[in-house]
Amino acid sequence: MHQLTITEQIKKLKDKTFSSVELTQHYLARIKKYDSELNSFISVTEDAALEQAQSADQALAAGDETPLLGIPIAHKDIFCTDGTPTTCGSKMLENFVPPYDATVVENYRRAGAVMLGKTNMDEFAMGSSNETSFFGPVRNPWAKDCVPGGSSGGSAAAVAALLTPAATATDTGGSIRQPAALCGVTGIKPTYGRVSRWGMIAFASSLDQGGIIARTAEDAALMLNTMASVDPKDSTNIPKDVPDYSASLNNRVNGMRIGVPKEYFSDGLHPGTASAVQEAIGTYEKLGAKISEISLPNTSLAVPAYYVIAPAECSANLSRFDGVRYGHRCENPKNLEDLYKRSRGEGFGEEVKRRILVGTYALSAGYYDAYYHKAQQVRRLIKNDFDAAFEGVDIVLGPTAPSPAFAFGAKGADPVAMYLEDIFTIAANLAGLPGMSIPCGLVDDKPVGLQLIGKHFDEARILNAAHCFQRETDFHSLTPKDIN
Ligand code: GLN
Repeated sequence: MHQLTITEQIKKLKDKTFSSVELTQHYLARIKKYDSELNSFISVTEDAALEQAQSADQALAAGDETPLLGIPIAHKDIFCTDGTPTTCGSKMLENFVPPYDATVVENYRRAGAVMLGKTNMDEFAMGSSNETSFFGPVRNPWAKDCVPGGSSGGSAAAVAALLTPAATATDTGGSIRQPAALCGVTGIKPTYGRVSRWGMIAFASSLDQGGIIARTAEDAALMLNTMASVDPKDSTNIPKDVPDYSASLNNRVNGMRIGVPKEYFSDGLHPGTASAVQEAIGTYEKLGAKISEISLPNTSLAVPAYYVIAPAECSANLSRFDGVRYGHRCENPKNLEDLYKRSRGEGFGEEVKRRILVGTYALSAGYYDAYYHKAQQVRRLIKNDFDAAFEGVDIVLGPTAPSPAFAFGAKGADPVAMYLEDIFTIAANLAGLPGMSIPCGLVDDKPVGLQLIGKHFDEARILNAAHCFQRETDFHSLTPKDIN
């Protein structure tokens, strides 16, 4: 059952090959078998899942046509779930039980999906390795001594180990695409504003965007049909009709203009990654796409600009965790200041504190112009680079991450080395563009990701390009060797 794609599972549920309860039990059993080692879930909601599956089966029997009826999925633990703990990977929210569902969660509930549980993540989505989670690191199913990437490492590892057919995720600077690359699965970060952020715990509000990790572009399209919505509760959500992303998957890529930025093949790129990506470009050429080299001249400024803007926004967003309203509260505070200091000091981990300090500094009077304002100007230059490139090409193609999965601890001592993991992904967030990662090879038995970046609201085109690649290749159907 777990080898089937969502599209296939939907058919089997309809023709009664198996029921949603059976499918759900099957995944719950896999989680039990593999997840004590992988740690990709923070909570597994077994009872609720079986109840939801039961009602799905009743609805199926009644001929209900809801799009994801009876399909098990998992949510990144950054999405608020009514009555189920939502920790954001932090001690600060260890005991937080939201009284409402995020719009994304509600959309899936209404579409008939069954929630298996909540996936592990870097604390407050800050990280590229899942090592900053208060609930412990996630192991990469392909190489258990290596990281799965982050911050949506739990979602990526769970999908790679076939513990769930798909999972929700979020991407502020690469957190869907980079773990998808490192775990050999398919991930899509939609255009900023396409997916509602309501009920999605904020890290950097102008960059955060919810998206999907699945095994194939076809499944990702199906999942996005439900996830994307027009939501008046999120003021940055763009009221634009959601197209049927599954409808255009089989369009031909013959004649599609693909730009390959020369800056993405810099010194830091692992030679194995570079050759897998070059081969993938060759596949597109064979399919009739027109490949051309392009330049995104401000690429090297993306990481520095991001590491001013993201911490600045996080320092403001995380000020709400003060020990008063909700979240961790220290024992026996002496006075209000002691309450703030100790609650925050105890509740946040090291990386989160580093970001708050950097962000507060960058926003402080006297430094604002030198850092925050400057970073916003650089952000505009990066968007202009893409605007210019998209005059001549339909999509941009390149590597997702500079190298395959690395060992635990390898980059922990050097925050800058860790920050460079997102060197190819961050620009799409700064420009608000949709981006995807799909598996395109193995290096030392570890997956490599190919990144596709599209124009604003052109998700259908990158999904189409990804699907055509997956019809030609079988990297997306490879599974880690000791996972059956
Ligand atoms: N790795 C980046 C960071 O640590 C991006 C994280 C994300 O996309 N949530 O900020």
